[in-house]
Amino acid sequence: MANNCIYCKISLDSNSVIDVCGRCGFKVWGEKMFAAIVKNMENARDAGDLNQGSVTNPKIDGTNRYPREFSTK
Ligand SMILES: [Zn+2]
Repeated sequence: MANNCIYCKISLDSNSVIDVCGRCGFKVWGEKMFAAIVKNMENARDAGDLNQGSVTNPKIDGTNRYPREFSTK
């Protein structure tokens, strides 16, 4: 998936979380604000990855619990 900066149309890194290059981001938001926005976007992406992983975990716990209950009785 190729991303391009919405302002100058320069091609962005494939793992970029925002559709704006660093140069335009600095111009629009300022260096500190742009860094904060990118950090927030990366945190949101990481949280999404974490949620996807936790969906499968309860199923594994659930299937493991039944054999143990039967064996103790
Ligand atoms: Zn740009």
